[in-house]
Amino acid sequence: MTIELTFLGTGSMVPTKDRNVQSILLEREGEIILFDCGEGTQRQMNIAGYSRAKVRKVFLTHWHGDHVSGLIGLIQTIFNSDYQHTLHIYGPKGTKMRMEHLRKTVDFENKVDLEIHELTPGVGQLEVAHENEDYSVECAPMKHGTACIGYRFQEKDRIRINMDHAFKEYGLKTGPLVGKLKRGETVEFKGKKITPDDVCYKVTGKTFVLIPDTGLNNTIPTLADQADLMICEASFTNEHEHKAKEFKHLTAAQAALLAQQAGVSKLIITHFSQRYPDTENHLKEAKVHFPETEAAHDFLKVKL
Ligand SMILES: [Zn+2]
Ligand SMILES: [Zn+2]
Repeated sequence: MTIELTFLGTGSMVPTKDRNVQSILLEREGEIILFDCGEGTQRQMNIAGYSRAKVRKVFLTHWHGDHVSGLIGLIQTIFNSDYQHTLHIYGPKGTKMRMEHLRKTVDFENKVDLEIHELTPGVGQLEVAHENEDYSVECAPMKHGTACIGYRFQEKDRIRINMDHAFKEYGLKTGPLVGKLKRGETVEFKGKKITPDDVCYKVTGKTFVLIPDTGLNNTIPTLADQADLMICEASFTNEHEHKAKEFKHLTAAQAALLAQQAGVSKLIITHFSQRYPDTENHLKEAKVHFPETEAAHDFLKVKL
């Protein structure tokens, strides 16, 4: 299963000509999951060619405007469509109360099931936000001016069967025996024993981690441990490290050091302050510590 991530907004605070505010879209198996929903996210989805009817879950990192201001518009659009699902919204402490307020700000008919999940992981702790047969989403607290959480999206490993080999070697075709083998059972076919090891192989699930607005924080390497991809805020360059500290944000170099510590395969930095005309210095400073770094731009797509 391919995970496709699209950056819908890569700037911080306010939208600029080149960068919208925060939102990352994940598409997998026809399901769309949004991580944050800054102002203008709906329009960014239009431009990127995604249907809002496929959004099933929204994971909010925190309630600063650049991460949530597009939420009420998105909800209204989904509610006005022929949406037959439950829309799940996850967020940090205070999300239930804020969602209640938010829904009162716009007059529209509530036709859709909306389920709000408030996540309150303890300091240094990981909490499971959602888990199903295919993947889990865990969260951990960040250090920001308001309750803020980072997320780890982890696909589960899958057992696949090499049907070509199973047929050539054992004459086995698809059917209930294949299901048993996938579940780890040994089966008997035409007088021959077939073990899962004979015909099965494992497909390792992919993991991506989103580190949103935060100051330096010991939980980050734990949350991001060995991930295939770490997406991390890098609002500032070394020149403004004092501002990063003051406003509880990270520099690109700090993000890179955290990626190195976590042992991730790739780092994408995002959430750039509009004071910088480009991301050249962010990249240069990050690559000193972690060469596998890329700087996000709006509509950047990454496949895992
Ligand atoms: Zn922000
Ligand atoms: Zn923030």
